[in-house]
Amino acid sequence: MSVTPPPVSSPTVAEVPKMGAYEIATGNFNRAADLIGLSDEWRTLIRTPFREMKVEVPLHREDGTMTVFQGYRIQHNGSRGPFKGGIRFSPLADEQEVKALAETMTYKTALVNIPFGGGKGGVNCDPRTLTEHELEHVTRRYVSRIHLILGPNRDVPAPDMGTNAQTMAWIVDQYGRQHGYNPAVVTGKPLELGGSPGRAQATGRGVMLTGLAAAKDHLGKDPNELRVAVQGFGNVGMNAALLFAEAGCTVVAVSDVSGGYHNPDGLDLDAVVRYKNREGGDGTLAGYDNGGVEYVSHADFMGVDCDMLVPAAIESAIHDENVDSVKAKLVVEGANLPVTPEADQILQDRGVLVIPDILANAGGVIVSYFEWSQNFQQYRWKEEDINARLEDIILTAYRDVIAEKARHDGASMRDAAFALAIARVQKAEKLRGAL
Ligand code: NAD
Repeated sequence: MSVTPPPVSSPTVAEVPKMGAYEIATGNFNRAADLIGLSDEWRTLIRTPFREMKVEVPLHREDGTMTVFQGYRIQHNGSRGPFKGGIRFSPLADEQEVKALAETMTYKTALVNIPFGGGKGGVNCDPRTLTEHELEHVTRRYVSRIHLILGPNRDVPAPDMGTNAQTMAWIVDQYGRQHGYNPAVVTGKPLELGGSPGRAQATGRGVMLTGLAAAKDHLGKDPNELRVAVQGFGNVGMNAALLFAEAGCTVVAVSDVSGGYHNPDGLDLDAVVRYKNREGGDGTLAGYDNGGVEYVSHADFMGVDCDMLVPAAIESAIHDENVDSVKAKLVVEGANLPVTPEADQILQDRGVLVIPDILANAGGVIVSYFEWSQNFQQYRWKEEDINARLEDIILTAYRDVIAEKARHDGASMRDAAFALAIARVQKAEKLRGAL
């Protein structure tokens, strides 16, 4: 009997311009390296990834077709501890993007001074086009190909764009089949499988804490005087928006892949969340028009009138074509690499303070560190202790960056943050005897 092979299709690629994540990461590194006078040898040593793995991830679709995705796990630097960083499911994930994000994690863990290095993973699938069963299959296939380089003391993934606690549960299970059950191999798990209280809100909480600290220092404003706009209504954006509102801010606009939703008097965020989670909906805000809300296109979103702008969705969200429209005096980077170097310079020249990603969105990896610690201890901490420790660590890092900025005349918060982080990585490499 002859069997007809299923047709092979390429992965769906979203119609979005390719983002220069690696160029952004290079710009960030070079400016800070100049600031601290890092030699060329050290630049090469620190920037070169420790290990890059690229794997095929085949999927037999439920409709009988077959797709072969590309999967990556890049371990950038492990001098300060196990590699740490999320796994992203996105049609735009490629080697350059994952490499840039892995490197960003190295500096993030160093800046907030937790005992990890930096890594990142990605599969170039579009989770919105896959069924739950297909997503599980993709996750298991991917892990079965990279499991040898993972481990609680080796490389500890976490959720990122397009992945969530359920994905992490499949990873624990798949890893456990080969190595025995060990929840510390991944963070961002469901509570029932060793996840940590407070992890889901942690990145948004860090954005809120650093954003409010900077608003007080830079704008002299209390929360109830702040109008906030948030791009992205996923894990980071939604939780940040809710926490800003809880702190007393007026959230005037939010957006997601479907566009932006604006109300100058403040959005009813409970209604927005209910709409996002509505029965039969697609999980986006498409069509949301609750009283007084006007639709804003992606192109116009960065120009919404507000005091604080929080890009919490994608890379290169603020670039040379939309930067002039930015009205906010404070930009808090919820997403990774959301401002291009050219736009960053323009914002700095205009006196707009930018709180860089490696500081603003480090709350997730900080609580991942708590989750990992709890897994080793086999003891669950209370959520209020977790939130208090998160606040302590992230605000200490915020103050460290302010102090470093003061040491380098005219340096931006980003340059100061990267300078501090790179110096810590260099110190660890030296202590280990790298050169
Ligand atoms: P997510 O998948 O939960 O949410 C992404 C959101 O962005 C969705 O609401 C989506 O609709 C929206 N979006 C996509 N394209 C958009 C566009 N063009 N314009 C506006 N909105 C758009 O992802 P997430 O976990 O919230 O991650 C968002 C960003 O934050 C990523 O850069 C990620 O690397 C970074 N980050 C996430 C964490 C974490 O703990 N989840 C931690 C640190 C950094």
